[in-house]
Amino acid sequence: MNSLIQLSYFAAAVLFIMGLKRMSSPVTARGGIVWAGLGMVVATLITFLWPGMHNYAWMTLAIVVGGGLAWYTGKKVAMTDMPQMIAIYNGMGGGAAAAIAAVELLRGDFHAPTFQVLAVAGGLIGSVAFSGSMVAFAKLQGLMKRSLVFSGQQFINLAIFAAALAFGFLLMAADLPSGLNILLFFALALLFGVLMTLPIGGADMPVVISLYNALTGLAVAFEGFVLGNAAMIIAGTVVGSAGTLLTQLMAKAMNRSLGNVLFSGFGSGAAAEGEVAEQGEMKEIDATDAAVMMAYADTVIIVPGYGMAVAQAQHKIWEFVQLLENRGVTVKFAIHPVAGRMPGHMNVLLAEAGVPYDKIFDLEEINNEFEKADVALVIGANDVVNPVARSNPESPIYGMPILNADKAKNVICVKRGKGKGFSGIENALFFLDNTRMLYGSGEAVAGKLITEVKQL
Ligand code: NAP
Repeated sequence: MNSLIQLSYFAAAVLFIMGLKRMSSPVTARGGIVWAGLGMVVATLITFLWPGMHNYAWMTLAIVVGGGLAWYTGKKVAMTDMPQMIAIYNGMGGGAAAAIAAVELLRGDFHAPTFQVLAVAGGLIGSVAFSGSMVAFAKLQGLMKRSLVFSGQQFINLAIFAAALAFGFLLMAADLPSGLNILLFFALALLFGVLMTLPIGGADMPVVISLYNALTGLAVAFEGFVLGNAAMIIAGTVVGSAGTLLTQLMAKAMNRSLGNVLFSGFGSGAAAEGEVAEQGEMKEIDATDAAVMMAYADTVIIVPGYGMAVAQAQHKIWEFVQLLENRGVTVKFAIHPVAGRMPGHMNVLLAEAGVPYDKIFDLEEINNEFEKADVALVIGANDVVNPVARSNPESPIYGMPILNADKAKNVICVKRGKGKGFSGIENALFFLDNTRMLYGSGEAVAGKLITEVKQL
């Protein structure tokens, strides 16, 4: 039986890794999810065969309730609400790891002191990931509107973390840790997760969620060692390293350090310091002229951003693109790594609308092509096309790689009004001589463009 269990865990681990590999390209990503999901099914079912396992009814009930809720919410969630759903699911993983730690510490039956240390470390990390993810969820869901920032905050957070660590050391040192110490340890760790996340601006949450995702993976791997469960160790390590890489990728694409994301209160207004007021005025264009300009162009590059996701304009934009292509216009999509509110946000939306992958290009692949493009159509994107990131060392987004939409012969920017982007700063692109503003919600504007092109 033991060989069957270990073999199944090995199969589950192979499925996790193959699934993750397939997730690295939009072409195979959907299949990757299915592979990794299969791995999870194998790992879950084989648990029933563990020697000495009991409470089968409770286990089944937990799987039915958890699986049912996940199935229902997964089906219902809107694409724009995906980040908070990831936050809540991911937080549950951290919470589950912390719960395992609590049970093992209460039992106090560790094979070796190392396992006791790992249980405490996993408990601490899992609790922080759990409560922090819940705050991230509340912020993204709009349940918590303001970032709580007060003087001495970092010092208080540090003191609470130090207290949690102190209780952690007590738990590691005790033969049979006391129930009260276990309770205080977890209460402090959970409190730290909440307080650490409260000051972070809502729009930085995707980076924080990715960090908590990495922490959850680490906590699960630690608890896997405690339980002697190979699948947990491998899955946790894979999630931990993937989450770490993703966190780094996002921070790098915004040209910010992780410390700056966690401790600067970016996006809550303070970061707009150093901004220079833009000269000139924004010049408007109507849908008729914009449609004509694009219909008679040779090349159009479309830059989608967060506003396209809000407006759910991707289907209409794709319809518009097909009309342009029928007229012989070459159209490409340019995707910034942090366009929208989560990595791959735009790729997912465009894939959902049916845009073929060979029309979608990453920043490095397409940035040199803007100079030759007749029109750059910027729809709901703002920060990711702001040229001050190249030109103004004082700007909070200075150094962030941007899409060179400003270098196109003509730029058309679709947005509802004069709203700023996530960074809260003015966009120099909107004031350039070659830029025209096409005001309106993304979906409505795309609809008008379709009508106009059809009439040509
Ligand atoms: P953005 O800078 O947030 O700007 C979005 C723009 O969309 C706004 O200026 C808004 O202007 C417009 N908009 C909103 N609703 C719209 C609608 N219904 N129709 C048309 N336009 C609409 O977006 P972005 O250029 O995609 O940049 C993403 C930002 O998020 C970056 O600063 C990035 O660093 C940050 N971020 C991204 C990630 C990630 O993983 N992707 C993670 C963390 C942070 P109006 O109000 O005038 O319409």
